[in-house]
Amino acid sequence: MTSARQRPISITSSDRDVLDSYKRLYEESTGESTDWGAFLGTIALMGLAAAGVYHLVRATRRSRQTVNVECGECGATFLMAVPTGTGRAVYTTCPECNAELVVDLGTLR
Ligand SMILES: [Zn+2]
Repeated sequence: MTSARQRPISITSSDRDVLDSYKRLYEESTGESTDWGAFLGTIALMGLAAAGVYHLVRATRRSRQTVNVECGECGATFLMAVPTGTGRAVYTTCPECNAELVVDLGTLR
């Protein structure tokens, strides 16, 4: 599969240093070693949740590849698949009320 050609994002070298230090801190803190895409995707989701754009919810382990998620909006509990390789934070919507949720899987590891 071919995807759109990647283009560099222009950032200043001081921004670059700050982002590098955040990524290092994240990896030291979580024990994960991620590439830039996975890191930025995770951090963007967590950041949007922290900013109140999405509800941040936690998951509880149901089986190896599924978790129970409790909706922060309506309180419904639903099952979500987490295939191997899923990152720390996942975007999903509540099947009951369609609230946009960010599920934090970090507590399961
Ligand atoms: Zn809901």
